[in-house]
Amino acid sequence: MHTLSRSFATLIVGCSVVLSSACGAGRSASDDAASENAASTAEMIASAVPDSIIDGWPQHSRERPAPPVQDAGPYVAMPRPADAVVLFDGTSLDAWEMADSSAAAWKIVGDAFEVVRGRGTRPTGAWCGDVELHIEWMSPNPPVGSDQDRGNSGVFFGGGRYEVQILDSFDNPTYPDGQAAALYGQYPPRVNVSRKPGEWQTYDIVYTAPRFADGKLVSPAVFTVRHNGVLVHDNQALVGPTANRARVPYSVHEMRLPVQLQDHSHPVRFRNIWLRER
Ligand code: MG
Repeated sequence: MHTLSRSFATLIVGCSVVLSSACGAGRSASDDAASENAASTAEMIASAVPDSIIDGWPQHSRERPAPPVQDAGPYVAMPRPADAVVLFDGTSLDAWEMADSSAAAWKIVGDAFEVVRGRGTRPTGAWCGDVELHIEWMSPNPPVGSDQDRGNSGVFFGGGRYEVQILDSFDNPTYPDGQAAALYGQYPPRVNVSRKPGEWQTYDIVYTAPRFADGKLVSPAVFTVRHNGVLVHDNQALVGPTANRARVPYSVHEMRLPVQLQDHSHPVRFRNIWLRER
């Protein structure tokens, strides 16, 4: 496992947890400023407010057809590439830290770690630009709650701007652009391959950071996502940062920003997290 020094302070607001370093370049003052507020008015507006309708549907529409349910089969372990940067291998949370640079306060359970309610909204991983990330997660069993209030978490890229939703979407209807593997508030997954609560699930996410020049958007954030090995997003461009009940325009930010996990007050577990910069 890589040894990751906790060398960078963070100014990210809220109860965030921040990985000190992993992708090499570290952070700068401008990184801090960019991550402090994804919609900071101090940042130059890079695009117009996106259309509220995507693929013919309003945001969070419950009329939008739910992706068909498919059986992805049982969990199968995926070998970790030799050059992967390991963010969690089951032994320690040394690669993670809180927003105030204190040690990560989430709980290790067996070979996994678990969200501890109220101990951080966005545990943060590596400072990365273009990257592929593997993460395994498990929603609580027995399930508690329903809809968005059931096994909710998320994997964020771009310093909290772009979320791949984590949710217990096994027999748990919600609005399709907010179910498991959705690019939150924008694009549902092509299929629902969610396993039962208490079973390990995998995301393999390829993220291409947006590009900006002269205060304008040059190219958007793009995601390719496999959920439990099944392709659910194929080079999908986002219309802007993901958000709840809002369409947010792109604003200029650094390319290399933290990968983060969301504390949505649900005891979701994670394990076997690694990434490779592209
Ligand atoms: Mg979430």
